Amino acid sequence: MKILQSWIAGVWTGTEPQQILHSAIDGSAIYASHAEALDFGAALTYARKIGLKNLLALDFQQRASILRTLAKYLTEHKEELYVISSHTGATRSDSWIDIEGGAGTVFAYASIGTNEFPSANVVHEGPAMPLGKQGHFSGTHILVPRQGVAVHINAFNFPVWGLLEKFAPSFLAGMPCIVKPATATSYLTEALVRQIHASGLLPEGSLQLIIGSTGNLLDLLEETDVVTFTGSAATAAQLKVHPNIVRRSIPFNAEADSLNCAILGPDIEAGDEELDLYVKEVVREMTAKAGQKCTAIRRAMVPAAQLDVVAEKIRARLDKTIVGDPRLEGVRMGPLASRAQQHDVLASIQQLAAGNQIICGGAVPVQLQGEGLEQGAFVAPTLIVCRQPMENSAVHEIEAFGPVTTLMPYKDMQEVLTLAAKGCGSLVATLVTKDPHIAAMAIPHMAARHGRLMILNAESAPESTGHGSPLPQLKHGGPGRAGGGEELGGSRAVKHYLQRAAVQGSPTMLAAVTAEHVRGAVVLESDVHPFRRYFEDLQIGMSLLTHRRTVSEADIVAFGGLSGDFFYMHFDEIAAKESPFGKRIAHGYFVLSAAAGLFVSPAPGPVLANYGLDTLRFIKPVGIGDTIRARLTCKRKIDRQKKDAKGVGQGVVAWDVEVTNQDNELVASYDILTLVAKKSDTAVA
Ligand code: NDP
Repeated sequence: MKILQSWIAGVWTGTEPQQILHSAIDGSAIYASHAEALDFGAALTYARKIGLKNLLALDFQQRASILRTLAKYLTEHKEELYVISSHTGATRSDSWIDIEGGAGTVFAYASIGTNEFPSANVVHEGPAMPLGKQGHFSGTHILVPRQGVAVHINAFNFPVWGLLEKFAPSFLAGMPCIVKPATATSYLTEALVRQIHASGLLPEGSLQLIIGSTGNLLDLLEETDVVTFTGSAATAAQLKVHPNIVRRSIPFNAEADSLNCAILGPDIEAGDEELDLYVKEVVREMTAKAGQKCTAIRRAMVPAAQLDVVAEKIRARLDKTIVGDPRLEGVRMGPLASRAQQHDVLASIQQLAAGNQIICGGAVPVQLQGEGLEQGAFVAPTLIVCRQPMENSAVHEIEAFGPVTTLMPYKDMQEVLTLAAKGCGSLVATLVTKDPHIAAMAIPHMAARHGRLMILNAESAPESTGHGSPLPQLKHGGPGRAGGGEELGGSRAVKHYLQRAAVQGSPTMLAAVTAEHVRGAVVLESDVHPFRRYFEDLQIGMSLLTHRRTVSEADIVAFGGLSGDFFYMHFDEIAAKESPFGKRIAHGYFVLSAAAGLFVSPAPGPVLANYGLDTLRFIKPVGIGDTIRARLTCKRKIDRQKKDAKGVGQGVVAWDVEVTNQDNELVASYDILTLVAKKSDTAVA
């Protein structure tokens, strides 16, 4: 029996056994947690002095690049984890959700870092806004690394994904992590951390692992730290009010169990494809990970007229589900993660069944595929029907964290929305409907109490990622009983680990702080056209004020002919007179094109491509006889450390463009996005 070790302050600790951990398959003792107490003061000092220093020596782009390499490494080494994962009760496809879902989330955060964060450690949440009439005092927001440590406490059901989905955004945000997995399945997390350690990819001090208790860790945290928690609502409620967390206002993000629901819309009848989709979704959620997913469907709500047909279809599918040794081919559902969970789930089934009808399951399965499984933590897939759900509170309160769902009828939309709300806050709900009007009515109502809402029908089903799958791009977490927290959701998750501050000062000061040009800041006029400078030579604020151009009627006519845009405002003297502008005006896109003609440096040079523009506004009309000019200013530089196909390094440069008229009034405003070559990689012609 192997003794698991904690990785704390740069040392693997643990030689004496404490809690014996059993294989969920056959109950054999496979690992033990260690008995040695950990020095959490040393862990925090190590994280702050070494981890933080190393992480903040890198910028967002560099940390994103490490995440990408790490995700590749984990993908290459995944099979080692699959072997261990089966002892948690996971089938191959259950392990896929945990292991490859985890690596996929790291890949996703690598891309989010590359695409949405700067090559610096200050995120400008602009635009800056003028606060004074003369333009000398402005305000904006920045996000910076919190300069603290993230403590992640995880649940037993996703030993790999659970660590990685919290670690990836924290690492990107520059926070060293101390991770405590649930003891029952900590052997898989330990194997993951050993892999990460062996990869040598992370800066020292970025990640520490606790096997066993958190001891006095929470007492030692400071105001710059963060705690995240996934597990039971009861533990969340206890930890959330830890005196040190309350006293120091340490952010505490909780993701707790919830009574997620799936609603079969009132428009769906027997024979509709959507009815079968509903049944499949419920059965998949009951059996994947043996129902041990915080997002699994616990309450299935169907129109009263469809109750019996749905119950029968679910039962028929569950009957065909082969339960047994998750390592065997053909086995669709393995055991729960531990005998303790088996005991809890069987007890919860008893409570749920009171006054209700067990359609199938409800106990340890009679038939199991495989040998020597008597001591395994198996529970049969269990469908309960509650015919009076408005009168029964237990079905909306008791979560059997296993392959258990309660099916309930509803009479109309009003009633089903009331039933859904009885969960008092859930992570996710699914509505199966063909009718957009039903979706438009129900979803905004349900959104107040559900973290994620999936609308399923025949059109979306072939590409659906499923009710139970949190995605890195979308928010995971729900209000009320679900913990009130938020994880994932793309860059939102990274921002949870950053500190936001409002900054006020002159535009020049704000530009210096944010490393972004702010309108009104001093610009650097230069003799060399900014488009002729390589990435390294460009400085924020380098600017070009162009020559002028008077717009003529011929311009408007020519542009209309070229584009085919003969809108009355440009061509109909009478209608244009009656318009809010009182005269014919130039096309906005002509102004944009003419501005490009004013500022572009035509010869080949370091600017490789223009790939779009942002924040375009036409602010004032440009009429016949108006004279325009443009100011082009280097606004933002991001070094994504990328090279093109020829090996030429390139960076992203955003340019601020202001187009003004003869009275110096702003007529158009936007950012252009370009790729600019690096001098270091380019043979200068
Ligand atoms: P717990 O809430 O007991 O444990 C979750 C995590 O918190 C584990 O890492 C646990 O460690 C840790 N923990 C428990 N008490 C403390 C404490 N006082 N201080 C610091 N850390 C603590 O949940 P379980 O894993 O035991 O599961 C119980 C129930 O929670 C399930 O049956 C299910 O209903 C629900 N659940 C919800 C999940 C979700 O994703 N929302 C996931 C898993 C479970 P240790 O294991 O060492 O006790």
